[in-house]
Amino acid sequence: MKFTFVTLFKNLIDGYFQDSILKRAIESSIIEVGYLNPRDFSNSRHKKVDDAAVGGGAGMVMNPQPLFEALNYLKTSDQDIHIVFLTPVAKQFNQKDAKRLAKKKHIAFVSGRYEGIDERVVEKYADEVFSIGDYILTGGELASLVVCDAVSRNVNGVLGNSDSLMIESFESELLEAPSFSKPQNYENNYVPSEYLKGNHSKIRLLKLALSEGKTKFFRPEQLLKHKTRKSYEK
Ligand code: SAM
Repeated sequence: MKFTFVTLFKNLIDGYFQDSILKRAIESSIIEVGYLNPRDFSNSRHKKVDDAAVGGGAGMVMNPQPLFEALNYLKTSDQDIHIVFLTPVAKQFNQKDAKRLAKKKHIAFVSGRYEGIDERVVEKYADEVFSIGDYILTGGELASLVVCDAVSRNVNGVLGNSDSLMIESFESELLEAPSFSKPQNYENNYVPSEYLKGNHSKIRLLKLALSEGKTKFFRPEQLLKHKTRKSYEK
């Protein structure tokens, strides 16, 4: 699967792929990462990519011309490309989106900067738009990486053990039960004793109870959904 980051600041993104799971996925050719800088497509003398907002307002807005040309170039080089814009004014990205997008062949992430991107670019080229949360970042690069990372985990072969995908939080309504590692007693902080006794059905029940408790505390609306679904299934 290929990811192309359309960004003015490639270096903000590049480092993330230099280590750990995604680095290995690139080395094994499971994923491929490329970059496209809209500045390279600017036809202004000083390679300008932004201008004052038409109609007034604070800050600069990214011009249509360099982005139209950059995205045209991408679309003509790969007709299957799926173009995603990152913006705070969109539906919030979630795990279902991550799984769905993991089936695409090529995704381009378009990062805004300054006060954002001229709306005509979004209207013409966006296959989808996502926000990563109700707050404002300085640019779309972090948001693109968040989406790319969450999608990549769901691409076949990226995770060494694909079982981890099945028990993770947001696979169902319930959050994942707490995890523990060794030693069983660390400075008088103990792993729940049931985890150590090897009775797998009891461990499963305990994990379910802990998972429900955690969901009730952090995401009560998710627990309600879980209970409603269970009562329909009966
Ligand atoms: N003026 C815009 C507004 O108030 O909606 C904010 C622009 S923001 C400073 C610059 C860029 O960062 C955006 O174009 C977008 O690409 C990215 N960005 C900021 N917050 C984001 C979020 N929560 N989710 C996704 N992208 C975000």
